[in-house]
Order: sequence, then structure tokens, then C-alpha cells
Amino acid sequence: MARTRIAIVGLGKIARDQHIPALAASGAFELVGVASPHNKLDGVPSYGDIETLLQAVPGIEAVSLCTTPQVRYAAARFALQRGMHVLLEKPPGVTVSEVLALSALAGKNNAALFASWHSRHAPGVEPARAWLAGRKIQGVRVNWKEDVRVWHPGQKWIWQAGGLGVFDPGINALSILTRIIPTALVLKRAQLRHPRNCETPIAASLLLDDANGAPVRVELDFLHTGGPPQWDIDVDTDAGRLSLSKGGGEMRLDGKEVPALHGGEYPGLYVHFAGLVRGRSIDVDVSPLQLVADAFLCGQREEVEPFVE
Ligand code: NAP
Repeated sequence: MARTRIAIVGLGKIARDQHIPALAASGAFELVGVASPHNKLDGVPSYGDIETLLQAVPGIEAVSLCTTPQVRYAAARFALQRGMHVLLEKPPGVTVSEVLALSALAGKNNAALFASWHSRHAPGVEPARAWLAGRKIQGVRVNWKEDVRVWHPGQKWIWQAGGLGVFDPGINALSILTRIIPTALVLKRAQLRHPRNCETPIAASLLLDDANGAPVRVELDFLHTGGPPQWDIDVDTDAGRLSLSKGGGEMRLDGKEVPALHGGEYPGLYVHFAGLVRGRSIDVDVSPLQLVADAFLCGQREEVEPFVE
């Protein structure tokens, strides 16, 4: 079967670290172009913006939007209006209304749209979802803590409105939670800690409930220095404790490791996108972004020390 001709828009850290290797290993896609204001990819036609790319390279059928979130909507609209299939990196937009508008546009133009959540493709996530199905949740604890200077060096966009601050990694935890917890989650309270010189928070504490009132406590911290990152979720249930660690890469039941989990985040993400392209289907779940929006809606804001990189 012919491979789908795909272009990458936004040649930054995640495009180089994950998308390019995943596409190179994929039998379903052929990388035929790149659009990025300041970066080029050796051996692949590269242009400064999506308009020029599409004029210069014929037959592009799909785009993977790996830009900063603030410019994702305009590029997605441009591509969908031309009937191209679109993969959105997370977060899928800077507002929920942007993402819903893109979903409607994809439907109108019979194009595939995937609002991707890479952490949902971590090997432990589907086994955790299966194990938790039908179990009674008693409480959930999330610790999502990393050193922003190590993981996001020089990324000024994170501190600008729409860049999400600590919710840039934190939304990965929310994307896993909204996949594995069997009932809907409701945000009850949020405390957001904003450096005085930044538009987005550097730390946050959230309290959510599941549909049966079980508390879900989430701690996000971007100033976790001097040790490995913590990307951990513990779920206490009537049948014991399920733990996900390493961002969903490992799973334990009552402390005992569940062996032989399969799959990788970005290869899995492109397998799923290939299926959506074949069916011209839409997979848009805004629930992780909705929870972040809710935290910004109801969160108490506290000013903290300026952030200096
Ligand atoms: P990054 O290194 O800052 O890269 C973002 C890229 O976007 C830049 O290289 C920039 O290209 C490009 N860009 C900006 N405006 C553009 C435009 N108008 N058209 C085309 N390209 C444009 O950021 P990143 O870490 O890769 O993150 C990008 C997205 O991926 C974010 O939404 C982030 O949440 C998500 N993500 C990141 C990671 C991670 O570990 N870093 C993991 C998963 C998901 P130029 O440099 O050429 O100007």
C-alpha cells in the first residue's frame, strides 16, 4: 500500500527527538517536507512556513504539527481547509474553542484529525485502563515534577500565555488520568503558582473528584532539581494499588512490577494516526485541555519568585 506523504511543521525538540525517528520506522508514512522558520532537515525539502512548503512540494497529504502551541491553530486550519490530514501535538490548541473548531472543520472537509496525547501510548496506560475498569477507585495521587531547565532549555514560549507553564508536562498526566480512570473527572480546586515575571504557572496543586467522589490530588512542579523527574500516578482501589511510573512506562500492582509491557509512545501514535487517515476519521478528546482550562478558570493565583533561566 502507498505510504501517506506527510510533512512536519515545526522542527524543534520533539520533532527531532520523536517524530522523525517514528516516521522513519513507519511503513505507513513518508516524510516529504518540513516547514519551520529557522530550521532545516538535511535531505528533506525544508521551507520557512507551511504556505511555501505546500506550494513547493506537490502531493502532501498529511501534516504533523509540532510547533509551539500558540501557532498550531492557524497552521491546522490552513491544512484542513485544503483537505489535508492533520496530527496535532499536545496540547492540541491554546483554547478549547480552537480545538472544537478544528474538529468541525476536519469533518466538513472529510479530513482525518488526531489531537494526539503521546503519553496515552506509553506501554502501561492501556493495561492500567483495563485493570481499573469496573474497580472502585478510593483515591488517586499524581506527582508530576521535573526540572524545567533540564527538560525545556531556552523554551521561552512555555512562559508566555498559551504556553501552559507547568501544565505543558502536567497535561500529560491529565491525559493519562482521563484515559485510565473509569468515570469522568471534575476539577474542584486549583492553586497556581506564577513567577512574578511569567504569564504561566511554575507549579500547581489540583483537587479533582471522580464520579463517586474519590479524591484525585495532583501536584505539578517545574522546579524539581537535583534528582530524576517524577512522573508518577498511584491509584488506590477496592482491589489494591495500581501505580504507573516513568510517565506510564512502568506499571505495578501493590508494588509488584507488571512485566513485558509493549509499545512505544510515538510509534504507537503514528500507528493510530495511520488508521485515522485510512478512515478519514476524527479523534479529538479535549478532556485533558478542558481540565487545564478549568484550573485557569477557578484556580487561586499566588505570585512566587521570578523565574530566571
Ligand atoms: P521547541 O523545541 O521550542 O520547538 C518548537 C518549534 O516550533 C520551533 O523549533 C519553531 O521552529 C517551531 N515554530 C514556531 N513557530 C512556527 C511557525 N509559525 N511555523 C512552523 N514552525 C514554527 O518545542 P518542543 O519541545 O519541540 O515542543 C513543541 C510542542 O511539542 C509543544 O506543544 C510541546 O508541548 C510538545 N511536546 C514536547 C515534548 C518535549 O519533550 N520537548 C514532548 C512531547 C510534546 P524554528 O526553531 O525553526 O523557529
